[in-house]
Amino acid sequence: MRDFSQGHEWLSINTATVRRQGDLVAIFEACGRHGIRAVSPWRDQVASVGLERAIRAVKDNGLVLSGYCRGGMFPADAAHSAGMRDDNCRAVDEAKALGAPCLVLVVGGLPQFSRPGSAASKDIFAAREQVEAALADLLEYAGSLGMPLALEPLHPMYAADRSCVNTLSQALDLCDRLDPHRSGRLGVALDGYHVWWDPDVMAQIARIGRERLLAFHVCDWLVPTGDLLNDRGMMGDGVIDIPRLRAAVEAQGFGGFVEVEIFSERWWQVPLDEVLATCIERHRSVV
Ligand code: ZN
Repeated sequence: MRDFSQGHEWLSINTATVRRQGDLVAIFEACGRHGIRAVSPWRDQVASVGLERAIRAVKDNGLVLSGYCRGGMFPADAAHSAGMRDDNCRAVDEAKALGAPCLVLVVGGLPQFSRPGSAASKDIFAAREQVEAALADLLEYAGSLGMPLALEPLHPMYAADRSCVNTLSQALDLCDRLDPHRSGRLGVALDGYHVWWDPDVMAQIARIGRERLLAFHVCDWLVPTGDLLNDRGMMGDGVIDIPRLRAAVEAQGFGGFVEVEIFSERWWQVPLDEVLATCIERHRSVV
């Protein structure tokens, strides 16, 4: 397992972590100031400064991407499926233009939440079938551009509205069915926040294999958690044994960036430089 105590060369900042403190250019400049080498931007943050300006700011600050967030939200009714497909193809195009190593996918839950305006449904089984069909379709487009797709299983508390793929096992089963030859075009983004509770997580990590491990995200699980979406903890402030998860993914051969992704009303109130300094310190001490 890599020793992070002496530096933060493998730290990446997911830009949602500081989304309220400044625009993407300000965030990239701050990362540059702190000697952070990698970032993972969100589409809405890119859109608000413009794609060309975002590309320039990546270069100007000596950054690389550890991922691009995000595509997916596949379940849709018939009236919204063409728009869903176009939207995902654009996400692939943007990821390519920004030089991302993968497009992270949050697959969506029931269609009315995944693609608002879609007819309401309670059929999560049908939603999962839609996910698989739409993912197979997007895989062809992304494959033609050489952009790997990273499925991120989400904690089951998000099954209705954000992701009906809730375990690493489910995500890897999809990979096995859609990319049986492990071409590297389809893999997973493993986020400790979403999988730490799963009794099967270590066995499933052992099943991933290097070519399917496309991204590794960290933050912490707070007890109590006050908000289902926006109360993630800074690493070290909660109950996840992060080094144990990191040791397991590195035992699979993962040697990439460890991406800090914190959605937190509390941390969004803290000045940008202070958040980044804290991420660096925790990356060295508890990740
Ligand atoms: Zn994540």
